[in-house]
Parts: sequence; C-alpha cells; structure tokens
Amino acid sequence: MPRYTDESLDRVRDAIDIVALVGAKTDLRRKGPSRYEGLCPFHEERTPSFGIDPVKKLYHCFGCGAGGDAITFMQETEGLDFGGAMEMLADRFGVQLEAADEDPRAAERRARRARLYELLERTTAFYERVLWDADEAADARAYLLGRGLEEPTLRAFRVGYAPSRIDTVLMASRRAGFTEAELSATGLVQTNDRGRPYDRFRERVMFPLADLRGRVLGFGARAMRDGQGAKYLNTRDGELYHKGNQLFGADRARAEAAKASLVLVVEGYTDVLALHQAGLANAVGLMGTALTDAQVAELARMAPTVALALDADAAGQEAMLRAGRVAAGRKLELRVVPMPSGTDPADLVAAEGAEAMSARVARSAPFTRFRVERILAGAELESGDGRDRALADLRGVLGALPPSALREELVRLVAGRLGLSETLVASLADGPATLPGSELGGDAERPAQRGPRRALDRREETERNFLAMCIALPEAGREALRRVDLDVHFTSELVRRAAAHLRLDLVNPMQGVSAQDSELSTLIAELALRATQQPSDPAALEVQSLQLQTARLEREIVAARGSGDASRLAEERRQVKLRLDDAMDRAMEGSRRA
Ligand code: ZN
Repeated sequence: MPRYTDESLDRVRDAIDIVALVGAKTDLRRKGPSRYEGLCPFHEERTPSFGIDPVKKLYHCFGCGAGGDAITFMQETEGLDFGGAMEMLADRFGVQLEAADEDPRAAERRARRARLYELLERTTAFYERVLWDADEAADARAYLLGRGLEEPTLRAFRVGYAPSRIDTVLMASRRAGFTEAELSATGLVQTNDRGRPYDRFRERVMFPLADLRGRVLGFGARAMRDGQGAKYLNTRDGELYHKGNQLFGADRARAEAAKASLVLVVEGYTDVLALHQAGLANAVGLMGTALTDAQVAELARMAPTVALALDADAAGQEAMLRAGRVAAGRKLELRVVPMPSGTDPADLVAAEGAEAMSARVARSAPFTRFRVERILAGAELESGDGRDRALADLRGVLGALPPSALREELVRLVAGRLGLSETLVASLADGPATLPGSELGGDAERPAQRGPRRALDRREETERNFLAMCIALPEAGREALRRVDLDVHFTSELVRRAAAHLRLDLVNPMQGVSAQDSELSTLIAELALRATQQPSDPAALEVQSLQLQTARLEREIVAARGSGDASRLAEERRQVKLRLDDAMDRAMEGSRRA
C-alpha cells in the first residue's frame, strides 16, 4: 500500500461506525450508551460474551479473548493486512485516503491507474447490460442459465457479454474521453497488422477478474460459437492484470474463507459460480491449471487450509502435484477433495446437490494421502524393480510426516499394497528422506485431526488470556498468579515457563527473558500486547481466572469419568460457573461505566 497521510487515516477512523461494521457479521443488542452485545463472530457460543464499545470503537470477547478495533476486526474477518483493512474501511465509510509525500511521478502513476480502473469498471457495467438486454446475447443467456446458474449469481459476479461489432468498446470509450493508449493498457483494445485498433473481446461471455477489493483488472472470456479461435481468451498481462496473480472470485470468497478457515480451489469460472450459488461461498477458481507461487501466497493469506477440488483427470492430477510442490514449505495445510473422474464441481452440484458437494469437501484427504495413492496407482507392483521404485518414492513422502495417526494409516496402506510388513515400511520411512525419486521431500504436513487441535487452541487461548490479564493488572495479577498451580492449570510447558517467569515480574514482563530463548520471548511479547487490549477491571481478571479453573475442572472431569470423583468435580464446576456468571456481570457492568 502507498503511505497515507495520518490525517486521512484519522478521518477514516473517525468515520468508522463499528456497530454497523460488526453488526454485518453478528446480531448486536444495545445494552447501554457505550455497550452492544452479541454472539462472538470468532468462536462458537450460545450466550453472548462478545461486546463492543461504540464510542471507543473497540470490541472484546470474554469467551475467546478476541479483541481490538475496527481495523483488527477487518484484518481478522476479511483476511486483510493493515493497509488493505484501511483501504476497505475508507471505501466502506466514504473517506478518501491521501497518499503521503508522494513524488510527482508516483502521483501521476496513481492517477493513471485510477483512470484505467474507471475504464475497466465502465466496460464491465457495459458488458453486463449487453448480457441482460441485448438480443444478440440470447444464446449466451441460454448457455449460462442452461448450466443451472441463476440470474442473481450471474449478477453478483458481474458476468457480461461482449457484442460482435468490432469496435463497440473502442468507440464508446473514446466518446467518454479515454485515449487509445489507455484502452490498450487495459487490454480491451488491440491493433491489427495495419495498426488499426479493434475490440479484443467479441461474441464472448465475459467473466470479470477482480482484485481482493473487487476492482476489475481484466476478463476471462468464453467463446460462444465454433470458429472463434480459443475457447477461452484472457486479458493479456499488462499494467494492472497479471494472470499468475489472480484467483477468480477471491474478492467474493475472502470473508467466507476466513470464517471457515478453508478456501476451496476449483478449476473454472462456472465451477466457482455454481459453488457460490450452492452456498459454498469460499470457492475460488484457478483459471488454467498452473498454480503459481503468487496464487499460493494469496491462498495462504485467505485461510490456513486449502482444499483442491480439481478434476480427477490427468491434467487435474498434474495440477494438484504442482500445487503440492509450490505449497511445500509453507504454513499451509493442503487437502484434496475426492472427485469422480471426468466431472467438475459444477456438474456435481447440478447432479448431487449442494449438500453432497459439502460432504465431499468435508471428506477431503490430506495431500500426502493423495500423493501416496498416486504413487501406488502408478507403480508396477508385479516386478521387484517396480516395487523398489515405488518404495523409494513413498519413502520421500512418508519420511517427511511427523508421527501421527495419518502416518500410521499410510504405513498400513502401503504395507498392504506392497505385501510388506508394517514394521518394515515404518522403518524404511524413518530413513533419510532425500532419495532421488522423491519429488516432495519437503512437504511437511500437520496431522489431520482437526477436532483435537481446535480444542487445544481454545485451551491455550484461555491460559494466555489469564496471563495477559495478570499483566494488565499487575497487583491483583500477582495475587492471582500465586493462587494457581502451574502444573495443574497450564497444559503446555511453554506457557508454564511463561507463568513462572511472570511470577517474578509482571510490571516489566520482558525483563530477564533471554534473547536466545526465542520461544519464551515471543510468547511474553504476545502476552504483553494482549494485555493492552484487556479492560483494566479486577472483575475481568476474576473472569479469566475462573475460566482457567473451569478449563482445569473440565479436564479433570474427563479424566475421572465413571469414578466417584466425577460428581464431586461436577459440583465444584457448578460452583465455579456461578461465580463466573457473577464475575461476568460485574465485568460487563464495569465496561459499561468505563
Ligand atoms: Zn469469542
């Protein structure tokens, strides 16, 4: 993002209506002059522990500890960075951001780009009108509706139609004051060998390709009759549009992908439209099979898990392998959605319905299993040579897996198919993983159990919030810290170490942390930052402290299941719950007064 002036950033902050912003994600009820409450958009809950302060423009959740201002809210819910969030908020609340200390050349470039965006925007609107109003677009309408796509979906994605005349866009844009240079820079117009300009897109269904903010950068265009040249024609790479950077529908999928922690990748334009129409609004399209580094980076920004739903044909499989190579080494969980050969998601939604498609996505398998099955399917298992080659390949894949249920399952699968003992396969997989035949030695993958991992995140969240609250209120915090049993109340060694350290000094928490101990210093820094977002209210500390007790009791209840202790523990938990409700009321009361 360009640097913006502080004044214009402040104008955006002033213009923000946080109730309207958050209210779009969760229903809010007014609870006082400076308090609204609702169900937390960041965690599952039945009774509201999420509140916002419309005056200070802050939000906070007592359940999961999420908190911040409108900017962090946009970053978290829309998967944006700071600049993107500010730009989005500026758009949303009608404030013009001003670039700071811009040199004249940069200012000129920006003004020029603004013209190009405007030209593309006008043209998109024109193509839309042609699709819905023109007689010559009747076949295109019939084609799209015949694929099961409905008008609201097509309108939401701003699908259009380019008319057959050779210079419609050229003439109309000239009349509107755009130059030929501008027309050519957007890729809308090109010149023939005699230097005469003409419309690049004619007699085609137009799919606008937008950036994350929804600004149209170019088009994917589908031919409507034979003999028109390429079935699909894209905007050529130019000043704004770079094919390798774009994912079709990313602007419309971003919020849903962030919420679901998963982005679904499909092949074509109509697949994306069909999935969004069916309620799978976290789908984006690749537009061609070569997944680039830039696209993988974009996917990783959208969600921590990427599920590939590509055709099971050879090209689709190749694309998935390439995706695996590009994604290797990134903090990204790659999964493969099982797809019957020769079908695409649009066909499947039409044939089986939306729920069956969701079920397929839910059945997605870790990419590593897909790799293993591919190797086994391609191996010549009859010959000793073939089995050895397969083993060498598999060793690269399995060797990169940490011990996990997935790894054991794959070892069983391989042993069964190759007719070897599980022990032998497991020990081979433990060997050095860098064999010449292994394409994917570096593909580290996290174990696939999603449920337990989420529970662990939540638990650590509780523990960290408690420690942050102690830092926020050092005096009361010292007392609260003294009362907890580090071994019992904290579930990870790292958090336990942090708690022990904080017992020494809550006022200067970073004091005495060795710079070499990067794990500990990162955690303490995070806690100190969290502390700045906590309300400075003893009741809020009590809430965190009681939540820590609840978490401890819940663990003990699970461990004691069936024994006589269980009912005593359940009673204790009931008592803690009562105190927690009471403390929460007081904390809410306190934040209302503040
Ligand atoms: Zn929450």
